[in-house]
Parts: sequence; structure tokens; C-alpha cells
Amino acid sequence: MPLRSPLYSQRSLIITLIVLLGCGFLATSFLSYYASRTSIRDNIVNTELPLTSDTVYSEIQKDLVRPILISSMMARDTFMRDWVVAGEHDPGQMTRYLNEVMTHYGAYTAFFVSNSTLTYYQAKGVLKKIKTDEPRDTWYFRVRDMTTPYEINVDPDLANQDSLTFFINYKVHDYQDNFIGAAGVGLTVDAVIKLIDKYQQRYQRSVYFVDTFGRIVLTGADGGPQGARAGQSLHDLESMKELQAKLPKPHSGSYEYLAQGQGHFLNVRFIPELNWYLFVDKREDGALSEIRQSLYLNLLICLLVTLVVAALLSRVVGRYQRRIETQATLDSLTGLPNRRGFDLLAAQAIQEAQREPKPLSALLLDLDRFKHLNDNYGHMAGDQVLRGFARDLESCLRQSDIICRWGGEEFIVLLKDTDSETALKIAEKIRLLIEQRRYTYEHHELQLTVSIGLTTLHTDDTLHGLLSRADQAMYRAKHTGRNRTCVEMPDPNHE
Ligand code: GH3
Ligand code: MG
Ligand code: MG
Repeated sequence: MPLRSPLYSQRSLIITLIVLLGCGFLATSFLSYYASRTSIRDNIVNTELPLTSDTVYSEIQKDLVRPILISSMMARDTFMRDWVVAGEHDPGQMTRYLNEVMTHYGAYTAFFVSNSTLTYYQAKGVLKKIKTDEPRDTWYFRVRDMTTPYEINVDPDLANQDSLTFFINYKVHDYQDNFIGAAGVGLTVDAVIKLIDKYQQRYQRSVYFVDTFGRIVLTGADGGPQGARAGQSLHDLESMKELQAKLPKPHSGSYEYLAQGQGHFLNVRFIPELNWYLFVDKREDGALSEIRQSLYLNLLICLLVTLVVAALLSRVVGRYQRRIETQATLDSLTGLPNRRGFDLLAAQAIQEAQREPKPLSALLLDLDRFKHLNDNYGHMAGDQVLRGFARDLESCLRQSDIICRWGGEEFIVLLKDTDSETALKIAEKIRLLIEQRRYTYEHHELQLTVSIGLTTLHTDDTLHGLLSRADQAMYRAKHTGRNRTCVEMPDPNHE
């Protein structure tokens, strides 16, 4: 089975960790994002929007319900009915009455239209006749014919141009329940519009009113959805298409819909006094942008942490890997390159020597009768001597020379740029040094000698050929008495 290279496994380890870290971070970030999103949505749909509706509704009630009650009271007022039934003799009495109502209740206007004379009585005392062909008077005939006791009419076409007015048009009947006219009060809607604007700005939501047919009846200063004005139908608005499919006619409840790719939350509430629906609409984006931003921040932090962890990890693993690789090529006892390390270095040295070309010599060193030393003084003593010998060997050589513990008590040296004569001098230097050296171990002075085989590289030599000749030379040194250097020169035919 082919072994994976250390680099490959290192890379796959780091990638796996990054993927695991990344997935973990992504999962927690997205989980918390979706959890907060759900809770924010729930909060908007179940609490925020209904609460806004409640508040707007109670303000509306304050502003609108009271005028309805006043108008209802006027329609039931015995003075008014008696005065009409008696023949409307003194208009001053009626205008005084209307002025009383207007000033006392703080209404914008108070009015009565008599059905028998079609006279329009106002609080300010101005009288006029209602005409069937006058567009501004059509409201009266509508009220006369309607079945409900009153209507609320927003009149956009008033003398005071800026302020829209709510008219509460109440039907007045005599004691036999015959229709005798319409009475009521008018009030400016400025307050309601200001209220709508206040809520829209403060909570970034849209607030507007829609009648039972789906027509917008009242909005803030900037209009309703898509800036739609009062009178426009929701059906005609492009942005409301999706909602219309779900909600063809207004109906109280909570809804979610898409408008031009934007999610919206909507709360619809019926206001019975007005017979209108209050729409409170919030864009999803506004509500969720904060948590979306915190998601992005989260993801950025996760990315940075993952990158930092990956960088640190790759450094640590790389350093560890290099240490292992170095250790694998070194001999643990002497710290010299082992056979593996030597193979790499030697191949390069031979190549260089042959290319240049430059002489290269090899020494094979074998400690003499090392077994005896081990047997007499113990293995630890042998180890101590091997370490000492390695240091001595190094001391006789240059930095550029290659030394290797070939195995056991055998060592190989490659002398770069060195011919056989010089190599022989070096070999002898080593041999003499070792001969005189005393290695101390537990009060013992240990002495030993070394046999050395020497050879030089020829042009088309191989490492194997070189080492075989050095081995032959060393073998000869052993057999001719040990503690000596023997030279095995390459076959002259090769040169
Ligand atoms: P010769 O002169 O013929 O080389 O004799 P020798 O005893 O040195 O040769 P032999 O090959 O018979 O024995 C080598 C000994 O080296 C045997 C082995 O126990 C010992 N040896 C090999 N590696 C180590 C080591 O790492 N530590 C120690 N203490 N001894 C070792
Ligand atoms: Mg040996
Ligand atoms: Mg030996």
C-alpha cells in the first residue's frame, strides 16, 4: 500500500481542521442568527405590531369616538327634533345650539341639514341650501338614503385647504322615526395624521387606514404603500400584489408578504367605530438588519479565528514535521547522519565531484575488537566510546566533509575535493589520534584502535562501487593486523 507523503497528510490534516472549525463556526453563527431572527419575527408579529395598532387605535378613539358620541347625542337631542318638527321658525336658535356644541366640545365645526327645507345650518351661523346637482352636497343624499345610523366622511375639499376634515354625519329622526335631516360635527384629521407620522418615524413602520373595499382612506403625510394617497385602492398597487392574493379583502390578523423582493410583516385591525381597517406594516429588512450585521461580524470573526488557527497549526505541524524528518536522518547515539541521511548527502556529493570534476575520497572506519570492550566494560561503556569517537572523528574533518555512522561501530567519511594522498594523511591523522586517545568511563581509561579502508572516486563510479572498494580496503586492514589504513585504488581501466 503506498504511503501518503508527510506533506500530503499535513495539508489534509490542516484542511480537515479548517473545515471542522469553519463548519462549527458557521453552524453556530447561522443557528444563532436564525434563532434571533425567529424571535425578532415572533416579537414583531405577536407583540410589536399589535401593540402599535392598540396605541394608534386608542389615540383614534380619543380623537374620533368622542365626536361620534357627540353627533349621536345631537341626533337624539329633543331641542333639535322639536325645533324641526315645529317648523324651523327661528334659525338663530339652531345656530346658537350648534355653536354651543362646537365650542363646548372643541369640534372644528357643527352642522344640521334639514330634510324638509334642505337648509344647511352651521355653528358660525352661515346658512345655505343643499342642492341635488351640487357635487359638494352629494354627501347629504347619500346619508339620507343609507341604512346605517351614521357615516364618517373624510372631506378633502375644504375651505381650510391644508386640513382634511372628518365629518360625522348622523341621521336625525322625529319621534315617529321619520327622517328629518342630518346632524353632526366635523374635526380636523391633522392630529391623526401627525400621530401616524410619529409612529411611522419612531418605529420605521407604515401606518394607514383602509376601508372595507380595500381603498386607502387615511395615511401619514407621505402617503401609504408606494406613496399611495387616500382614495387609491390596494388592488391597484403593484407592491401589494402578493398580499392581495392572500388577503383580497381586508381582514383582521397578522400577515407576512413580499413586496418588490422585500419581506413585510403586517397587522390588520378592524376599527368598528370607523368601519375601517388599521394597517400597521413593518419591513423585514429594517427589523433584521442589525442581526444580519451581527451575523456578518460573527462570520468575519470566525474567518479570522479560523485563519489564525490554521496559520498557527501549520507552523507547529511544519516545525514538528521538520524535526521528525531531521531525526529520521540522524543517529540518536552520536548525532551523526545515519545511513538514510548519508544516502541523500552522498548522492549529491558524488554528483558534484563527477560534474566538476573534482577528486573525492572515501574512508570506511571500523573500531578494532570493539566486542571485547563491550564484553569487558559493558554496553554503556561501548556507547560512551562511540560518542567520543564520533566527536574525535569530527574534529579531524572539515565542515564540508560528510560523516556517517554506517552501523554498529562502523563509520564512513566522504572527503570532498580530496585526492588519495591527502585522504591518506587525514586517515592516518585519525588513526593516530584514536590510538593515543583515552576514553574515560566510570574510572576506567578505555583505549582502542581503528582500521581504515580508503579509496577514491573515479569518473563513472557509483556510491555502491566506492563503498565496496573502501570495504575491501578496510577488510584488508583488519586482516593485516588492524590499527592501520589500507588503500584500494580504483581499477585503472576506468580512468
Ligand atoms: P573487529 O576488530 O573484527 O571489527 O572486531 P569487533 O569486535 O569490533 O567486530 P564485531 O563485528 O565482531 O563486533 C562489533 C561489536 O560492536 C558487536 C556489537 O555488540 C557492538 N556494537 C554494535 N553497535 C553497538 C552500539 O551501538 N553500542 C555498543 N555498545 N556496542 C555496539
Ligand atoms: Mg564491525
Ligand atoms: Mg569492529
